[in-house]
Amino acid sequence: MENVSIATILAKAETTHRLEKREIVALLQADACESELYAAADRVRRRFVGDDVHLRGLIEFSNRCGRNCLYCGLRRDNACVERYRLAPDVIVRLATKARGYGYRTVVLQSGEDAWYTVDRMCDIIRRIKALGLTVTLSVGEKPTEVYRAYRQAGADRYLLRIETTDRDLYHALDPGMEWENRLRCLRDLKALGYEVGTGCLVGLPGQRIESLADDILLFQALDADMVGVGPFIANADTPLGGAANGSFDLSCRVMAITRLLLPDINIPATTAMETLHPNGRLLALQRGANVVMPNVTEGDYRRKYALYPGKICIGDTPAHCRSCITGKIGAIGRRISQGHGFRARAGARGALLESSGREGAA
Ligand code: SAH
Ligand code: SF4
Repeated sequence: MENVSIATILAKAETTHRLEKREIVALLQADACESELYAAADRVRRRFVGDDVHLRGLIEFSNRCGRNCLYCGLRRDNACVERYRLAPDVIVRLATKARGYGYRTVVLQSGEDAWYTVDRMCDIIRRIKALGLTVTLSVGEKPTEVYRAYRQAGADRYLLRIETTDRDLYHALDPGMEWENRLRCLRDLKALGYEVGTGCLVGLPGQRIESLADDILLFQALDADMVGVGPFIANADTPLGGAANGSFDLSCRVMAITRLLLPDINIPATTAMETLHPNGRLLALQRGANVVMPNVTEGDYRRKYALYPGKICIGDTPAHCRSCITGKIGAIGRRISQGHGFRARAGARGALLESSGREGAA
């Protein structure tokens, strides 16, 4: 009986891309139907965004942060992490190398580090844009005017996870931060014409399954262009060090349902998924994802950018990561996109077929 109704929900999701909250909760809880859920997400991924995998070169340019999120190793009260901040010239040099590896997008990510004033950030953005690269920022909450300045300097995309839709949980885990302000940031970014990426952590202590369903509905309500879903991984250097890790499978389910409900968006196979499962990113690519963000940060900085323990590839070079991920993607019959990988809206072009990756197509 349960199986019948789950099959009905899945068929509805695959054809209408709309579900009620209680239906999402049922999918999140239905252990027996996991493979059907993943197969449906994989079909929708293929139909709407094709077999191309977009690579984004990730530059972790500062691990200094003024915030104190309880789950995160970069939080300001963590004295165990060795802090660093890369000079603008170094960041631009890494971006140039990223272009040399064939990446068309760089993601500039950091803690909320006030050293990077608006002028400094805008200068970095302009210099990287002049290289012909697409620029994604992931530098936290800022006032509207700052987002506008980054956009005018050429930034194309912005990643800011809502982390959780459960306001009380958010306020307990993110002291001094306001959930409403995070939402304001996401709305501002949309209004300013960024491609907006958001997402959530799965398995936070005290998180309920219903709130994961709310997360997915919020992604849909925001019309997110990208959604990154990652398991919470307990970091011993934080107040949540003793908590249990999130589940890889539940993270995959949240991601797969997100693909069903937002069929044409970009969804990364997250690094945190691979941290919990040796094949995590490839499995994610077969369960709805179409993006990978290989690290182009060099040397010891990778290790020091310790959001959570067990981070993959900390001893590897950017060149190694490029060839490793290329081989893996080919091995599952997918291909590396040659384009910049903007969202290809289904409404405007019909369900795919022209891959968003192909230049000149958009
Ligand atoms: N400071 C920026 C960007 C860096 S943090 C920001 O907060 O938006 C990037 C992401 O790392 C966060 O959005 C969070 O979801 C994730 N993260 C932090 N700590 C984590 C942990 N312990 N386990 C898994 N992901 C974590
Ligand atoms: Fe800082 Fe982001 Fe970590 Fe929060 S999640 S402490 S804002 S780096």
